[in-house]
Amino acid sequence: MKLVIVVPCYNEEEVLSETTSRLSAVIQRMVEEGRITEGQILYVDDGSRDKTWSLVESLSTAYACVSGLKLAHNVGHQQALWAGLEWAAVHADAAVSIDADLQDDVEAIPLMVDYFNKGIDIVFGVRKERKTDTFFKKHTAQAFYRLIRGLGGDIVYNHADFRLMSKRTLQALVSFPERNLFLRGMVSSLGYPSAIVYYNRSPRFAGESKYPFSKMLSFALDGITSFSVRPLRYITYLGLVFILIALLAIVYGICSFVEGTAIPGWTSLLVSLWFIGGAILLACGIIGEYVGKIYKEVKRRPRYFVEKTILPKEKN
Ligand code: UDP
Ligand code: MG
Repeated sequence: MKLVIVVPCYNEEEVLSETTSRLSAVIQRMVEEGRITEGQILYVDDGSRDKTWSLVESLSTAYACVSGLKLAHNVGHQQALWAGLEWAAVHADAAVSIDADLQDDVEAIPLMVDYFNKGIDIVFGVRKERKTDTFFKKHTAQAFYRLIRGLGGDIVYNHADFRLMSKRTLQALVSFPERNLFLRGMVSSLGYPSAIVYYNRSPRFAGESKYPFSKMLSFALDGITSFSVRPLRYITYLGLVFILIALLAIVYGICSFVEGTAIPGWTSLLVSLWFIGGAILLACGIIGEYVGKIYKEVKRRPRYFVEKTILPKEKN
């Protein structure tokens, strides 16, 4: 079984040597223990502006297992990872995706491979705790996972992009034609047999996070919008709520008219305000339903993936 470890790197010159020595040690051990027959590290240089690529070149001469892919410009973590996975779908039996910064525990990789050897297609790396995160990151991340799951997204709690995928998982994944990527959600939605490996997440080995708040926010929005058209439907519901409030205001107006406590002009103003607001929201929501359908269509996702088949017996 040939394993490729895909590592997207953006300005990671400070960590690459250490990452290579740790990953190659794990690969060597797994080969010796017979878990894999061959292991390779594939660095995807995501248009780095520092010495990342020349470092990959020199590492590839020092280590036989190191290979690299240099992207012409910075396309972002998810797209860079995709580039590596596309390559792995052709050249490997399984791929592990991991960040360059050694935050994910490389010792979890052999455990993932063990699951793979037992016939599991997808092994999610899930962090045990968030001790190394700032208060802010921890709470925003947790809110994000909850929100996505609340919106019907099928993602594994506290799983980032550290996972093993079998060849058929990779091939299924790269058959998704969409350009807007939220890989952790896409992989969970495949439905192939999966398992979880828990690990402790360390602080970044060196360098700074390449995910500042602005990138994190846009990643979260991408995740939600690429996974769910439900926010569009909520506009419809909100419109209906507004119209209901308008109806209640009418009832209130009639009651106060009967009681003789009505303030002239107040009810009609209030009712029309809520009613018009509601009608506009409802109209937006209805348009949104169609936009959502168009969105799903243009993604042209594959309709299904077969997990197992029982072929008809040959008659002789
Ligand atoms: N990364 C990338 N392209 C980018 C930003 C990040 O390939 O535009 C890589 C980065 O080199 C690292 C991984 O994505 O290997 C995760 O980034 P980082 O560790 O900075 O994110 P954090 O752990 O802080 O969320
Ligand atoms: Mg990191």
